[in-house]
Amino acid sequence: SAIPDVPLNDGNTIPQLGFGVYQVEPRDTVAAVRKALEVGYRHVDTAQMYGNEAEVGEAVRTSGLDRSEVFITSKLNNGYHRPEDARRAFESTLTALGSDYVDLFLIHWPLPTRYDGDFVSTWRTLEEFQRDGRARSVGVSNFQVAHLERLATETETVPAVNQIEVHPYFGNEEVRAYGHRHGIPTEAWSPIAQGRVLGDPTIVDIAEQVGRTQAQVVLRWHVQRGDIVFPKSNTPERIEENFRIFDFELDDTAMERITNLDRGGAGRQGPNPDTFD
Ligand code: NAD
Repeated sequence: SAIPDVPLNDGNTIPQLGFGVYQVEPRDTVAAVRKALEVGYRHVDTAQMYGNEAEVGEAVRTSGLDRSEVFITSKLNNGYHRPEDARRAFESTLTALGSDYVDLFLIHWPLPTRYDGDFVSTWRTLEEFQRDGRARSVGVSNFQVAHLERLATETETVPAVNQIEVHPYFGNEEVRAYGHRHGIPTEAWSPIAQGRVLGDPTIVDIAEQVGRTQAQVVLRWHVQRGDIVFPKSNTPERIEENFRIFDFELDDTAMERITNLDRGGAGRQGPNPDTFD
């Protein structure tokens, strides 16, 4: 059961399942990413903010895989939105990764009130990275509809992805639907709500019905909706478990029951991008 590729609006593709390394300590990152690559993951999601880009790069470079076989995403740290800062920060990402390109580079947060709310000039700077080939694709993270509309009005490039919080307790439907209408695939961060949705009676029930673990059921729900996911784990058994989600299916009833767990804004686990600065 191979991992499907999701087509991006710039002609590139991204593996629908990846491995996330938020809150993976630098000293644990090489082993965790190495394990993920052994299991078969070919997509790693890191960020300048996570402090482990160098270890991700090391794990990929020493994996025996060709650089071209692994899709690497990183993200511009908050505080580097000004074009000259973004250029320097982007170079530090390439240096840390030990690669002359990154597959996907994102604006991590829109920060609508910092730096005069000017994420548009930041976006134009990411367009430069794509034009010069050092970022194969460029996208955004935590962008709300209003932020995406500003990019659509004021710039030429449609983000290749929007990486946002999505899990059964927070469906984030309005932003997902906007992406759907405009050719912007959704990447669902904290897909199992950092473990918080595990133990939910509905998830427990469906997991028993299909004979899978709760984490597998929730990850399967995401991929059947077409979203891209990259669950995080430090535990080798869980890294394997989370990979095995392409050899079973949830029926419409199970899908709907999980979708109905949505608690709206109250289900949000991370900050609200409208106010986070
Ligand atoms: P997640 O939903 O992937 O949950 C990870 C946690 O769930 C683990 O620490 C572990 O405690 C538990 N877990 C994982 N697999 C399990 C299993 N099989 N059984 C039981 N428990 C299990 O949370 P996350 O790490 O926040 O999100 C995934 C990735 O999304 C991150 O690593 C990062 O790459 C990305 N992310 C991006 C943003 C952003 O602002 N762009 C924010 C948060 C996360």
